[in-house]
Amino acid sequence: MPEKPNPFEVAQRQLDMAAQILRLDPGVHALLREPMRELHVTIPVRMDDGTVRVFKGFRVQYNDARGPAKGGIRFHPEETIDTVRALAAWMTWKTAVVDIPLGGGKGGIICNPKEMSPGELERLSRGYIRQVARILGPDKDVPAPDVYTNPQIMAWMMDEFETINAAHLPGVITGKPLPLGGSAGRGDATARGGIYCMREAAKVLGMNVRGATMAIQGYGNAGSFAHKLAAEILGVKVVAVSDSKGGIFNPEGLDPAQVAAFKDETGSVVGFPGTRSITNEELLELDVDILVPAALEGVITEKNAGNIKARIVAELANGPTTPEADDILFRNGVYVIPDFLCNAGGVTVSYFEQVQNAYNFYWPLEEVHQRLDQKMTAAFHAVHEMAQKHKVNNRMGAYLVAVARVAEAVRLRGWA
Ligand code: NAD
Repeated sequence: MPEKPNPFEVAQRQLDMAAQILRLDPGVHALLREPMRELHVTIPVRMDDGTVRVFKGFRVQYNDARGPAKGGIRFHPEETIDTVRALAAWMTWKTAVVDIPLGGGKGGIICNPKEMSPGELERLSRGYIRQVARILGPDKDVPAPDVYTNPQIMAWMMDEFETINAAHLPGVITGKPLPLGGSAGRGDATARGGIYCMREAAKVLGMNVRGATMAIQGYGNAGSFAHKLAAEILGVKVVAVSDSKGGIFNPEGLDPAQVAAFKDETGSVVGFPGTRSITNEELLELDVDILVPAALEGVITEKNAGNIKARIVAELANGPTTPEADDILFRNGVYVIPDFLCNAGGVTVSYFEQVQNAYNFYWPLEEVHQRLDQKMTAAFHAVHEMAQKHKVNNRMGAYLVAVARVAEAVRLRGWA
């Protein structure tokens, strides 16, 4: 047995379960088990010391029956094609669950960006685009930032693609800086989409969210904005937050602006005045109404799932709950908002960015928020109803919604 399960086999197993419940046509099922297309590239880069280093990269277009492939580009020393395939499959289900007219893709380069200079990173980014440009485009495949890639890298990539095509084509990539066609509202979109889902979850559970308590694990982009927006939009009292150094707890609530400023100053939330220090493990088991894992994968396991007291677990992180833990939470009546629904706000605003690029006309922030709310609320209820109908957990409910939508597009096109 390999130590870590192959992520692509995991993705295929999840699809198989959904296919069985949906009684999917065997031909459609077989097609959805595999990426439609993948490109493996070799990228020579002139390093600062004058030598040439050769990097390996990938772009996988998992399925584009519903629209151009969409998914981030990762720079990671341990990147593998199977990780990229699995993430591309999950992007296919994520864009389908929020019902945006896009497919799923993912890209990656095996490299260690922490050891590279800005100049080397720029040449690597441009070199990657020169290799994969043949399969990219606003109407083919649209990348975005992901692990260790950022708006500046997207700007270099867009510029390289536009240079190759001798045209302005900002819709080829999302997550761009605002002056180059980025969208208002992209910064907090992931957390905001999750907060809208939590609001809807409270409604279906008949729970009064104003004054409810929340604990958040992780204080990066997803976690810190979740803290701010939980107070702002839901009126929730966030009593505990954490980062890699540990957690803090105050039953009276934590002020998001003050905690964020403290973390900016000191590098951690730990030590914030007036709080008790807790471990990340303790945070997960606190007696709160809503628990938001927003850091790492695999933190809710068969060991601690039985001790989770929260009524709602809102997965802003990708894969925070193991399959064994999922079963325990479901049996205990914990309402899980699964990752690829809960954190789909980011890709939804990426889609809005692409739409605005196509129009060459930009929406005010309020319009982005309003449209995001509509998408997330509709997606939440589609998943909730599907899970109720089939008496499955919400994660399987989300798979059923997504797989059914992609299967329908495949069938209508006559692919299988
Ligand atoms: P980030 O790098 O901005 O922040 C990660 C946070 O997790 C940091 O505060 C870090 O200190 C904390 N952390 C690291 N190790 C920890 C540990 N052992 N215990 C507790 N906290 C720890 O990352 P992010 O963008 O906020 O992403 C967080 C999660 O959300 C990831 O799973 C990511 O895949 C998912 N996600 C993010 C986005 C997005 O738009 N940012 C979109 C979809 C999914």
